[in-house]
Amino acid sequence: MNEVISQLIALQKIDLQLDTIDNEIKQEQDALDQQSAMLAQRESDIDDLHEQINTLEKERRTLDLELGEEVAHVKSRQSKMMQVQTGREQTALLKEIEDGKENIKDKEEKIVAIMEEVESLTAQITRQQELLQEETKSLAEATTKAKEAIDNISKNKQAQSSKRQKHASEVEAKLLTKYVILRERRKGLAVSNVLDGVCQGCFMSIPPQQYNTLLRGDRHLDCPVCQRIIYHLPQDDQE
Ligand SMILES: [Zn+2]
Repeated sequence: MNEVISQLIALQKIDLQLDTIDNEIKQEQDALDQQSAMLAQRESDIDDLHEQINTLEKERRTLDLELGEEVAHVKSRQSKMMQVQTGREQTALLKEIEDGKENIKDKEEKIVAIMEEVESLTAQITRQQELLQEETKSLAEATTKAKEAIDNISKNKQAQSSKRQKHASEVEAKLLTKYVILRERRKGLAVSNVLDGVCQGCFMSIPPQQYNTLLRGDRHLDCPVCQRIIYHLPQDDQE
C-alpha cells in the first residue's frame, strides 16, 4: 500500500484514541461539575427556606405586638364598662369588646398558623442539611476518584501524544495541514476507506473511474462529496 496512506491511517488511529482519552477526561470532569451544581442548588434551597422563616418570624413579631395592643384595648374597655351610665353607651362598649375579642382570636390563629409553618420549614431545613452533608461527602469521594482516573488517563495520553508526534513528523507538511483541517471539520475523521465504491466517511458513492484508481491501491484521492482523503483497503486487511 501507498506509504503516505499508511502513515495517515496510523496517525488517524492515534488521533482517534487521543479523542477518546480527551472524552473520558471530559466525562469525569462533567460528572463532577454536575454533582457540584446539585450541591450549590441545595445550598441555595436551604438559604431560601431560611429566608422564608425570617419573613414569617417578622410577620409573627408584628402580630404579637398587635395582639398585645388588642388585649390592652379590650381590658381598658372592660374597666370602662363600670363607669358608663346609659344603656346606649353600654351597648357601644360591649360591641367594641366583642370586636376586640374577635380580633384577638383572629390574630392568635394567625400566630399559630405561622408557628406551624415555621416548624414545617425547620424540618425541611434539617432534612436538606442532612442530604447536603451526604452529598458533600460523596462529592469529596468522587473528586478523589475522578482525580485518580484523570491521572491514569493522562499518563496514557502522554504516551499516545509522543507516539502521535512521531507519526505526524513522518507526514509531509502540506498534507498534514490538510489532514488537521479535515479532522476539525469532519468530526475527527480526515482519512476514509472506500468499500464497494462507497466512501466510509460520508457513505456516498464515488464515481467508478475514481474508484478504479483507488482499487489499484497506489494512490489516494479526495472524496468528491466530503473532501476526506480516501483510499481503498479491503475490509479484511483493516485492524
Ligand atoms: Zn466522502
